[in-house]
Amino acid sequence: MNLIFLGPPGAGKGTQAQRLCWDFGMAQISTGDLLRSHIAKKTAIGIEADKYINEGNLVPDDLIIGMIREELAYAEKTGFLLDGFPRTVPQAIELDNMITSMGIKIDAVLVLEVPGDELVARLTARRTCPTCGKSYHLIFNPPAKEGKCDIEGSDLFQRKDDNEETVTKRQQIYENQTKPIINYYKGKNLAHTINGVGKMDKIYSSIKTLLNEAVKN
Ligand code: AMP
Repeated sequence: MNLIFLGPPGAGKGTQAQRLCWDFGMAQISTGDLLRSHIAKKTAIGIEADKYINEGNLVPDDLIIGMIREELAYAEKTGFLLDGFPRTVPQAIELDNMITSMGIKIDAVLVLEVPGDELVARLTARRTCPTCGKSYHLIFNPPAKEGKCDIEGSDLFQRKDDNEETVTKRQQIYENQTKPIINYYKGKNLAHTINGVGKMDKIYSSIKTLLNEAVKN
């Protein structure tokens, strides 16, 4: 199965995507995680991307598309879930070109919806594990031991782009540049909307129900 996960920053895509990939054996391709790994390793991509990410801007399309092309080639056999890509209409068109030339298709596009005011509260209280990428919320989903990942025991950190100013900018960019993609996929009958407010388990089961239906059709 090949899936795309869309939704504003802080909607919970990463958490739900990780679980789906564990259950279905797909590769999770998160452009945000890939870029952060490039930054940590100080690669040429990382050095270029760092300034855009810190300011809450999108990284240029050509840089992202080159990175995705490589990842798709690895993930073709297992299927994949794209988390954080595409984020612009040109990226969506280029993705179509890539998968057509690979002879594969996208089975469904999941759109996780959460109101804007809730997103700021979620992201500014988010803490992330540097080892496994698991996210916590200081109030609603805290780790068992303060400041430590439940799985890895690593020290949790706050992403540099999870401050209020940058979060607001990232949301505006989502509205202006990423939301138009939803119509692009509606036109292909692939887009499915999910309410991203409520308990994580309940949201996950509605995603699974929806996927079972979407893949049957
Ligand atoms: P995320 O972890 O998905 O919130 O992504 C963090 C940041 O990485 C974004 O705010 C962008 O600066 C950059 N980024 C991730 N994916 C993309 C993409 N598909 N296109 C452009 N920039 C991206």
